[in-house]
Amino acid sequence: MLIDLTDVFTSAGKDRRESLIYEPDFFSYMGNTYRIQEKSPVAFSFSNTGNGRALIKGSLNLTMEIPCDRCLQTVKVPLEIAFEQEVFSPDADEQSEDQDEQSFMQGYELDVEAFVNNEILIHMPVKVLCRPDCRGICEKCGHNLNEGECGCDTFVPDPRMAAIKDIFNADKEV
Ligand SMILES: [Zn+2]
Ligand SMILES: [Zn+2]
Repeated sequence: MLIDLTDVFTSAGKDRRESLIYEPDFFSYMGNTYRIQEKSPVAFSFSNTGNGRALIKGSLNLTMEIPCDRCLQTVKVPLEIAFEQEVFSPDADEQSEDQDEQSFMQGYELDVEAFVNNEILIHMPVKVLCRPDCRGICEKCGHNLNEGECGCDTFVPDPRMAAIKDIFNADKEV
């Protein structure tokens, strides 16, 4: 969806508010696709901040389904996104230092979906756990260890003990 911001760019003191719908039901991030379960409308405000300049402010709440980092069970992750970003029209006196950051601007129009995608990207959690003490899955059989033991022998030798053993064996060979 493209929103024409010409009036905001060209009239001093202009302040426009709009509630818009972010359409996608899925979000792709680092090669994975996550389902967006719930989302609020995006509350936008567009304010003139000078000739050819506009400040985009707003917020959006959504719930995304992301697998737990350890056990891969789906976790409903609420994201509360608030944003504030100044944008420039093609004939602004001053341009953004990095034009790549303005990829959601098409001339005088804002690509709402591209803009919101960018904001969601910034707010994606680094790590998602179904619970802080998630025990993950068994490396041998894939059993979810939160549901109890699987009975596999998952004994990991203490690396310090292994080192002592090596010394012991080396002595023997002499
Ligand atoms: Zn988990
Ligand atoms: Zn197992």
